[in-house]
Amino acid sequence: MKHADFKSREVERLVTGTPVSDGAGVKLSRVLTAELQHRLDPFLMLDEFRSDDPDDYLAGFPDHPHRGFETVTYMLDGRMRHRDNAGNEGLLTAGGVQWMTAGRGIVHSELPEQEDGLMHGFQLWVNLPARNKLAEPGYRDIPDAEIPRYTSASGNAIKQIAGDSDGHAGAVHRPDTEPLYLDLTLAVGGHETLAIPRGHNAFVYVYQGEAQVGGRGQTVRQQQMAVLGNQPAADGVTLQSADGARLLLIAGRPLGEPIAQWGPFVMNSRDEVEQAIDDFRNGRF
Ligand code: FE
Repeated sequence: MKHADFKSREVERLVTGTPVSDGAGVKLSRVLTAELQHRLDPFLMLDEFRSDDPDDYLAGFPDHPHRGFETVTYMLDGRMRHRDNAGNEGLLTAGGVQWMTAGRGIVHSELPEQEDGLMHGFQLWVNLPARNKLAEPGYRDIPDAEIPRYTSASGNAIKQIAGDSDGHAGAVHRPDTEPLYLDLTLAVGGHETLAIPRGHNAFVYVYQGEAQVGGRGQTVRQQQMAVLGNQPAADGVTLQSADGARLLLIAGRPLGEPIAQWGPFVMNSRDEVEQAIDDFRNGRF
């Protein structure tokens, strides 16, 4: 398909991240907050962590539980050690991804393995369908070198964390939510049009520079998220940047199920959340 054949979605809304503190006192920018969980179903949360002040990240995320969804950590700079109660251990290094399926329950720690320097990356939460919320937990570390990437015909670098793009397969494929997770480096004067399946919820997050998003070229500044509209005729998104930019393009198939969240537990009903709390407190994770 020629790029010119795509009709671009338009930006529906711009969101600026909110500063929060999580874990044992890690400073983060929460970009996708609870109020957007239905609009951006199946995505539940997106945090960006970016600091070269060790006081902002050294405390890390000591042992804590998750149930009912998947966590995707993408590291741009820095080193983070993961350990969980299923016996998995891994070191997440620059450019690498950790894809963890919490399923029925996992207890893990995420601790920086550096005492100074830049720590920069993202954590995305992807929901699981009701029938898989209590599935066996899973865990995968994908180092930078194993994540597929290609240079588009327009000369932009596209790293494929999940899903397929322009006939190229990404590192991770998931059923039900079919996530697309791309890290794009738009060249100076770069122009790119990428396919997004109709009906999937999608957003762009600019983490370096500034980009124009959508057919009308809405400007999206660094640390802003653009929620892409689900215009029925649109089958892709157009991205441009005069001075070059780096951004995430994330899309997925909505589950259309009720969302009941209490902290690290995301289920379909309040009863199921209470069951999760009870199971965790009584050592059943
Ligand atoms: Fe966690």
